[in-house]
Amino acid sequence: MDDIIISFKNVSFRYDPDENNAEQPLALDGIDLDIVRGSFTVILGHNGSGKSTLAKLSNGILVPESGQVLVNGMDTADESHEFDVRKTVGVVFQNPDNQIVASIVEEDVAFGPENLAIPPAEIRERVDDALKAVGMYEYRLHEPHKLSGGQKQRVAIAGIMAMRPECIVLDEPTAMLDPRGREEVLSALGKLHGMGKTVVLITHYMDEAVLGDRVIVMNSGRIALDGTPREVFSHAREIESAGLELPESERLAGSIRKQGVPMPVGILSADEFIEQFAAVMDKFK
Ligand code: ADP
Ligand code: MG
Repeated sequence: MDDIIISFKNVSFRYDPDENNAEQPLALDGIDLDIVRGSFTVILGHNGSGKSTLAKLSNGILVPESGQVLVNGMDTADESHEFDVRKTVGVVFQNPDNQIVASIVEEDVAFGPENLAIPPAEIRERVDDALKAVGMYEYRLHEPHKLSGGQKQRVAIAGIMAMRPECIVLDEPTAMLDPRGREEVLSALGKLHGMGKTVVLITHYMDEAVLGDRVIVMNSGRIALDGTPREVFSHAREIESAGLELPESERLAGSIRKQGVPMPVGILSADEFIEQFAAVMDKFK
């Protein structure tokens, strides 16, 4: 289908046997998932639930043991598509220090397009556009290792954006950042989505989930929940059995619900809590 950019079709994956030759359990177990072009999908799950494995399968860094991953209809297991698949879906990892390859920001961002054999004038344009998109253009002549964590991660994102992928998959890009760095990266992602990019954000922060138009919860290599943030966070029991916590606002709403206050389920932010609570109080006036 035209509007699906990445399609996982009954995908299972396991890592190689360990040194004792013991077979590994399935890291992904029969995943069926379509990522809609232009969407912002957030993937949640506790450690070991299969999120990073899913990220690496999304652009052919890993290929399925069984099933298929299709990127714009191209099978990632078909080596003749490798280049086009990597150009279509870019993956950003957790640690920005491992992703920086040059000693000047703009050279670092140029590294990807240089490897795509893009003409120099176009590289210049791509690098500038990518740095502007993540709010790092003023830092183009700085040394990456002297930047803050949030700035480094935005440079890493610019490096992927300079390859002009249609879709960007980020594997816990904010995990190593302070609150300010997290905020910077999240706002850059919002902007990229606004520009029409497909965004897949893997995170373990529940409050980041509300940024998505779709939330997927992984558990033991499977999809446990899939829906809008409000739908997903209305399933308190399933969220907890997947080893996750509810957003603070929904947890608070749940505890006053137990006291008999008729708060709706799926309260996603402090503002929504206040709004809903005020509406409930109004009824008692
Ligand atoms: P997450 O990113 O959600 O923490 P992963 O995709 O990294 O989960 O891991 C899924 C499962 O695969 C876990 O059981 C993990 O221990 C296992 N796993 C991940 N990477 C490797 C590896 N390189 N070799 C063997 N097992 C791995
Ligand atoms: Mg991971």
